[in-house]
Amino acid sequence: MSTDYSRGLRLASAAAGTDTATLRAAMSATRVHVTADPEIPGVLTVIPVLVADLRRLPYQLSLDPRGATAPLPDHVVDDLQALVTGIDPDHPLHVSTAPPGCLHIHLGTQPPPGAALSGIPDGHGVRLRHAGHPFPHQTAPGSGLGAVLTAASLTAEVFKRTTGLRTGTYGNAPTLDFCPVTLGTDPGTVTNTVSELESTALIGAGAIGTGIILILNLLGASGELTVVEPEFFESPNVTTYSIGTLNDAAARSHKTDLAVRYLPRLDVNPFPHTAQDFINAIDNGTASWPGTVLGAVHSIEARHEIQRIHADLTLDGSTGGQAGTTLALHEALPQGPCLRCYYPRALIPTGPSAPQRLHALTGLPLQRIARGQDPLTPADLEGLSAKRQAALSPYLGVPVCGLSNIMGLTANDADDFQPSAGFVAQQAACLVVGAMIARSTSHATGPMRHVEYDARFGPWHDMTTPRRPRSGCACQSETDLIARVRALRRRPR
Ligand SMILES: [Zn+2]
Repeated sequence: MSTDYSRGLRLASAAAGTDTATLRAAMSATRVHVTADPEIPGVLTVIPVLVADLRRLPYQLSLDPRGATAPLPDHVVDDLQALVTGIDPDHPLHVSTAPPGCLHIHLGTQPPPGAALSGIPDGHGVRLRHAGHPFPHQTAPGSGLGAVLTAASLTAEVFKRTTGLRTGTYGNAPTLDFCPVTLGTDPGTVTNTVSELESTALIGAGAIGTGIILILNLLGASGELTVVEPEFFESPNVTTYSIGTLNDAAARSHKTDLAVRYLPRLDVNPFPHTAQDFINAIDNGTASWPGTVLGAVHSIEARHEIQRIHADLTLDGSTGGQAGTTLALHEALPQGPCLRCYYPRALIPTGPSAPQRLHALTGLPLQRIARGQDPLTPADLEGLSAKRQAALSPYLGVPVCGLSNIMGLTANDADDFQPSAGFVAQQAACLVVGAMIARSTSHATGPMRHVEYDARFGPWHDMTTPRRPRSGCACQSETDLIARVRALRRRPR
C-alpha cells in the first residue's frame, strides 16, 4: 500500500485552479526544511505535529536537529523519523543541513539566516512571522492547543507558497497572532487548562474529529469522552487525518479504536455506530446522554442528527467552501440557535447526483462529465450560454471531475470526492477546542458564536458573528417537546 495524497492535491487543485498532476509535480519537487529551538516552552510539542502535517502533503522533507541555540535530543529525531515513516515509508525525513532552494521553516523566535517563516505557540494560540519581522516575548508556555494551531498555521503558509495560488486568493500578512479561545490577537493571555471532561461526546472521528483527539491528548485532558463514529480508517485518511498510519489503514483499524489508542489519559467510551444509533442508545438507557457535544461531521443531515441529541451545548466544526479551505465553528443550544438554524433543511441537496447537479449548473453534457479526468477545453464551452462560458472559463485545463469540488457540489457525496487537508481540519478542531475552553471558563459567556475564515487568508477581525435563533426553526416551534426530551434524557438511570 502506498500513501495516497489525492485529497490534499484536490484541495490544492481547487484552490489554485491548476490540475492535480501539475501540482503534484510542483509540490513533489519542493524541499521543505525544518529547524527548531527546543528551549522555547511548547516548541517540542509543535515539532511532531508540524512534521506530520508537512508529510501529509507530497513535499521533500528535511530537518536539521542542531537548531538555533540547542540541538534536538536524539530520541526526538528518532520519533520524528518513525512518525514520518508511519505516514509515508517511501518518503523519509532527511536529516541534513538546509538543501539548496528549500523553503526553510523555523520553530522559535530567533530564526537562523535563510528561514522564510517562523512560529511559536503562545499559551493556546500562535505567533507567526515572515523573515525580518521580530517576535514579541512569549507570554505563556505553549499548550497542546497552541502547538496544533502553530503547526497547522505554518503548514497553511507553506501550502500557500508552494501551490501557485493566484494573487488575491490568499492572504500575505507578514505576522499572525491569534488565540482560538479569545478569538483575538492576544495569544498567551489565556492559559486555563481544559477542565476534566465529563458528560462529553465527540461525534465523528474524521478529519476534524481526529484533530480534536490530537489536541485533547496534547493538552493532557483527563476525564471521560464518548467517541461516536461508525467507520473504519482507510488509506486516503492517512494524509487528511491528524492521527493514524498506513499500517492502521492496512489493518482497517476502527476509527473509535484509534481514538482509544491516541487518548491514553482519557477514559474513552468507543461507540462504533452512527449518531442515530447513539440517540437510540441514550433513549433505551444503554448510553448516557452527553451535556456537551463536539460535532465533527461532514454533512448537513448529520448536523441535524447531532442536534437531535439536544445536548446543553453543541460545538460544531466544519470545513468546506469552494476550495475546501473554509473552516468554521458553530456554537449551538437546544433552545436556539441550534444547528438547524445554521443549516436550514433547504440547504440539503436532494435527488440529483453530483454529475447531474454539475450538468444543471454548468450545462456540460453528462457524457462529457463522465470523462472526468479530461481537462476542460475551449471546445467544451462551445454552444454554452455566454454566462456559463464566463463562469467556466477560469477552469480551463482543470479536470472536469474537479469542477464539482471547485463549485462545492459534493458536500453530501462520497468522502472520496471531497478535497481536504489535515491543516485545514486542524484549524477547525482548534476553534472547537478553543470554544470548549472558552465556554467552560469565563472567556465566553455571551451569545452563541459563528466563526468562519478561509485557511488561505487566516483568521481575521470580522470572522465572528453572534447568532440568534432562526424564526420558524424547529428549536422555536417545538420548545416544549425539546424540553421534555431533555428532561427524560437527563434523568439518572
Ligand atoms: Zn434552530
